[in-house]
Amino acid sequence: MSEPLVIVGNGMAAARLVDELAKVALGRYAIAVIGDEPRLAYNRVLLSSVLAGETASHDIELRPAAWWRDRGVTLKYGCVATEIDVGRRELKIANEESIGFSRLVLTTGSTPLRLNLPGAGLAGVHTFRDSRDVDLLLTLAAQKKRVVVVGGGLLGLEAAYGLAKAGTLVTLIHLMDRLMERQLDAPAAELLKSLVERKGIRVMLGANTARVLGETRVEGIELTDGRRIDADAVIFAAGIRPNIALAQDAGIPVNRGIVVDDHLQTGAPDIFALGECAEHRGICYGLVEPAYEQARVLARFLAGGAAAYGGSVVATNLKVSGVSVFSAGDFIDADGTETIVLDDVRHGTYKKLVVSDGRLTGAVLVGDVGDALWYLELIRNREPIARIRNRMMFGRSLALPSEAA
Ligand SMILES: Cc1cc2nc3c(=O)[nH]c(=O)nc-3n(C[C@H](O)[C@H](O)[C@H](O)COP(=O)(O)OP(=O)(O)OC[C@H]3O[C@@H](n4cnc5c(N)ncnc54)[C@H](O)[C@@H]3O)c2cc1C
Repeated sequence: MSEPLVIVGNGMAAARLVDELAKVALGRYAIAVIGDEPRLAYNRVLLSSVLAGETASHDIELRPAAWWRDRGVTLKYGCVATEIDVGRRELKIANEESIGFSRLVLTTGSTPLRLNLPGAGLAGVHTFRDSRDVDLLLTLAAQKKRVVVVGGGLLGLEAAYGLAKAGTLVTLIHLMDRLMERQLDAPAAELLKSLVERKGIRVMLGANTARVLGETRVEGIELTDGRRIDADAVIFAAGIRPNIALAQDAGIPVNRGIVVDDHLQTGAPDIFALGECAEHRGICYGLVEPAYEQARVLARFLAGGAAAYGGSVVATNLKVSGVSVFSAGDFIDADGTETIVLDDVRHGTYKKLVVSDGRLTGAVLVGDVGDALWYLELIRNREPIARIRNRMMFGRSLALPSEAA
């Protein structure tokens, strides 16, 4: 008889885990997926394209209902899991009876941070995480409101772009002295700023939000240096926090995320976690690729294999049309590393490759990202680059002409 395996969360990690399980352990588990969003799992990464009007919301579903049905998966969406009884191996679901499990997988993702500021609870303050947020932001865009986006990372930039594209007057404010500081060095960030400004987005750096202004609704934002920006809405895109409450309340060890080992196992027997809610070797990833790698390992482990997860090399792509940005690996020129740089501001191109111990360890590309995947492969595979080093900057076809032919 199939063992009951329950997955909490109906997001990207959950969908990929079911996919992987179907490949390696078909029939071994009776799978139930409990998700609180009121729709089938969708590609969250594409929400930026939906906001920018480049993709329709119904086109981002990861799998159609029939796909889940064909794999015998019981899907409960619009349902919040409220409690785990570790000892009895039961999961409680709001307004429903408990559901028993032999194995439980937590894929609860993250919640956007709402800065703890005066006025942060006013009507007109939004976040950018799920399709309900996007529906709200699209309404704002249609009304041509003035919007302040707080946060100059990937999400803030993509939110600002989507809104500006729809004709909204957008000011992007960022605490740090450069955009995407966790992925870009100063010259790359400076170039990005000029490209983003050309999209009609006003960018303010070193801007620390003191409070959101307004009585009942947002009327603007005040910075700690006293400057004020009038606005009808504020979008917080200033980071995420892993959803750990369910695990924490059940006594499962948590840190910033739910702590897991190399088998994605939490501190409780037969309870696993993966994706953005998990913390592996001290790292909570905020990207989808690590979640997919973890899903592959966990599926093999649950199938009885000896798979182990050793961590991921992450890469970031900004999805702003006409502004190509890629970053992977260690992009900071730390001691013992060498950097190769091509900086052509006039043509909107910046490339930086970081080399350490004869291997490529990091890359930052703005403008021309055509070879991004090749650089990522070199970084991930830790390939020695001595034979291609002097041509590597100019891309794969020049560095390896025989392979490209
Ligand atoms: C706008 C946007 C753009 C992005 N762009 C990129 C990108 O370009 N590249 C990239 O790598 N990553 C990107 N990301 C991040 C990427 O989407 C996430 O890393 C990925 O979705 C993580 O998958 P997950 O399954 O861990 O979490 P999620 O996809 O968030 O799924 C978690 C699900 O669990 C549900 N849940 C939580 N608690 C409960 C509960 N108690 N009961 C039931 N259900 C619950 C949540 O509602 C959610 O549906 C982007 C994210 C956003 C918001």
